Amino acid sequence: MRAKERPGAYIPVRPSHAMPCQRVPAVKQYLCPHCAAANRVPEGRDAGQAKCGKCHELLLTGAPVEVTGAQLAAHRAGTKGAALLLDVWAPRCGPCRSMAPQFAQAAKALEPDVRLLKLNSDAEPAAASALGVSGIPALFLIRDGKVIAQTAGAMPATQIVAWARGALAAG
Ligand SMILES: [Zn+2]
Repeated sequence: MRAKERPGAYIPVRPSHAMPCQRVPAVKQYLCPHCAAANRVPEGRDAGQAKCGKCHELLLTGAPVEVTGAQLAAHRAGTKGAALLLDVWAPRCGPCRSMAPQFAQAAKALEPDVRLLKLNSDAEPAAASALGVSGIPALFLIRDGKVIAQTAGAMPATQIVAWARGALAAG
């Protein structure tokens, strides 16, 4: 409510940061999959078309990004305003290999709200065991650095997308 404007009345000057109903812009931040630089994408910009300010490659490529344990940690710390969906897999695992094209398909549907990552548990056993992986393929949905949902077993792309969207909507 504004102060009543009466002649001679003192009207307080409102500092701009105290203006009511001011929205905080929803800035998204992603790590560049090519050079690992953190990039902010302002609200209203299409994150799917945004390019890295450092190396000028696309931040989101419509495909999952293969990460090491260290790179996974960097994405968890540096991704803001968007979720991460991690597929923990291994080359020796048949169901993992059969799900790979389905997971790639899901990236096209879930970006830019969700960045899809893949972690090879044979190459990065410490990172996989830190997540508590028992069976693979295992999917982890991560928001603000925290695992908010997880599941295991191969799924078609439509089911991966529905599971991720449902988990994000639930909390
Ligand atoms: Zn880059």
